[in-house]
Order: sequence, then C-alpha cells, then structure tokens
Amino acid sequence: MAEEIIISPDIGFVRELKRAGGDTLKKCYQCATCSVVCPISPDDKPFPRKEMLMAQWGMKEELAADPDVWLCHNCNDCSKYCPRGARPGDVLSVMRQKFIERNAVPALMGRIVSRPLLALLIPVVLFLIILGSIGHLGIPSGDIVYSKLFPIHIIEDIFITLVALAGITYLVSLFRFWNTMAKNGSPTSGGFVPALIGTIIELISHKRFAKCETNGDRKNGHMLVFYAFIGLAITTIWITVYYYLPEPYRKLSPISLSDPMKWLANVSAIALIVGSLILVINRLKDKGVDTVSSSFDWTFLIMVVLLATTGILTEVIRLAGITGLAYPMYFIHLSFVFYIIVYFPYSKLAHMGYRTLAITYSKMSDRDIEL
Ligand code: SF4
Ligand code: SF4
Repeated sequence: MAEEIIISPDIGFVRELKRAGGDTLKKCYQCATCSVVCPISPDDKPFPRKEMLMAQWGMKEELAADPDVWLCHNCNDCSKYCPRGARPGDVLSVMRQKFIERNAVPALMGRIVSRPLLALLIPVVLFLIILGSIGHLGIPSGDIVYSKLFPIHIIEDIFITLVALAGITYLVSLFRFWNTMAKNGSPTSGGFVPALIGTIIELISHKRFAKCETNGDRKNGHMLVFYAFIGLAITTIWITVYYYLPEPYRKLSPISLSDPMKWLANVSAIALIVGSLILVINRLKDKGVDTVSSSFDWTFLIMVVLLATTGILTEVIRLAGITGLAYPMYFIHLSFVFYIIVYFPYSKLAHMGYRTLAITYSKMSDRDIEL
C-alpha cells in the first residue's frame, strides 16, 4: 500500500513568496526541465522541480528543512529553459530571503532589514547621539584626523560589541537552520569536519559558479566581493591589533599609505567596488531570460557599493585636505560599516553561512556532485 503523506499547506507562505518576487510559481506544470538543465543539481532527488511543487502547495516547513534551496547558486539556467516562464531560479532566491528572515534572531532585526531606510537611519541617529554626548558634534579644526571626531576607544568599543553581537546572533541562526535540516534525518555518510573542509575548499575556488551557463560571468563579480570581504575583515583585525600593541609598536590612525595593512585595505576596497559593479551590471544586462532581482538583492548590492565608495572617498578627501567634507564622509562611511556588520545575519550576505552548511549537509548525505 502506498505510504500516506499528510501535507499542511501554508497559503500565507505562498502569498509571501509571490509578493516578494516569486509571482510565477503557480505557472509551473512539473515538466522537470529545470531539474534536468540545472548544472549543479544532484542525480539523487534533483532540484528545483520538487521545490517548485512544494512552493505551490505552501509546504513551508519542508522547504525550510530543504538544503537544496541553498545549493542553488541562482545561475538561472533553469529559468532560461523553463517552458512555462515559471522562473524557478527567482522563486528559490525569494525562498532564501524568506528563510533568512525566518531564522533571524531577534525576529525584529529581520523586519528592520526589510526597511532599508529605517535600517540606515538607526546608525545615523545612534552616532549623532554618541557624538552629542561627548561634545563632538562640530567639525574638528586643524589636520584631518578622524579620531578627533570619533575617539578610537569609542570606535573600538562600539564595533567590537557590534561584531560580537552580530556573530552570536548569526551563529544562533545557523544552528537553527542545521537543526531544521537534521529533522529530516541526520546525514550518515562521513563526518561534519571533513565535509566542511571540502565545502570551504570548493567555496574558495567558486567551482559551482563555474558550471553556470546563463549567469556564468557572475562568478568573477561574486569572487571579487567574496575575497574583498575577507580582505576587509583581516584589515579590521589588523588595525585593532595595531591599536592594542605596546609602545613603540603601537600604530594609531591615520596609518601610513606605505603600511601593508593599508595596501590590503585599499586593494580590498577596490575589489569590492569592481566586484559589486560587475554584479550590478550582470543583473541589468539582457541574458535572454526573463528574471527579476528582488529588492532584498538590490539593497544589499547598493549598500556594498556605497560602503566601498565612501571608504575610498574618506581616504581621498583626507589626503586632499578638504576638512569640511572629510568628517561628514567619514560619518557616512561609518554608518554603512554599521549597516553591513550589524545587519549581516539578516541580509543577503547571510547566505554564505547557510550555503556552506547546506553543501556540507549534502556531502554528508552522499548527494554531492562531481565538480
Ligand atoms: S519550473 Fe518550469 S521547467 Fe521546472 S518543472 Fe516547472 S514548468 Fe517545468
Ligand atoms: S538557478 Fe541555477 S542553480 Fe538554481 S536551480 Fe536554477 S539552474 Fe539550478
């Protein structure tokens, strides 16, 4: 006798997906062309056809536990060949957005990030309050030294606290995600650590992106942004170490342009601008397939471009000695730094951890693909 499966459809979830950009999901008539053409779908339980069916039926809990939603790299080969114009690539992208929001801790942060102007207003107001409380609301006179506006110990206290909070909440979200996947049965093939190491090696080389056809040039932009963020993270740790070194090794801002830390910071900032512009152009150009980028994707890209641009302008304007512009630009740049760090677990950037865990899980479940 056939096994009885009880489904609890969540119609509200279907509406949410449609509103957020997955409005074509009902067009799918289950031909499975998408699963056949997807270059990174495994032979065992391939995607995205089954995800399209689950989305049509509002199977929110099943999709939340499905690693394949995160294995998708949004290359859109499936959308190109879908005979019904159901845009499965976009539908899966919207699902990822919804599950980042769902796993957000605290949930309020997920809602704040969905309102970019409010999200940006929060650091602006917070920094103005801090500057007001220490009597630094005006433009400092004399040589341009940014610590005259924001003393270094205040910057350190604010950002070390924020990084710690963002890191903890992100780990909690990822832990939730892993537990949700494991509800389908713990993977049995191989251990977590070897699978994770294999996943990280894969991510470093962006091998899965290389298999995409329709969106193949996205690999370069994604890789530049990926390495730029790693470079900027190293730079941030580096400058913090400089600050805490004992005399005479201690170095305070502004750090000389000839310092290797500065080289890494500047190269990373340029890589971030170039990489994010490649991604923007890639989304705008006609690839012969009807796809839609959600506001979630656009907001992240725009914020990254603004983060890198204001970072470079902060340095250039300081070197040019334009005092009246330098401090406001620094203030704006810090607001974008806050945005990217604090909202990291709730933004598009959060996909890094989810995808890493999903690939690790699929390796441990013997569903890996040949790259
Ligand atoms: S999304 Fe398109 S290609 Fe995939 S099963 Fe549905 S109709 Fe077929
Ligand atoms: S967008 Fe690309 S990776 Fe994702 S399901 Fe479609 S073909 Fe596969």
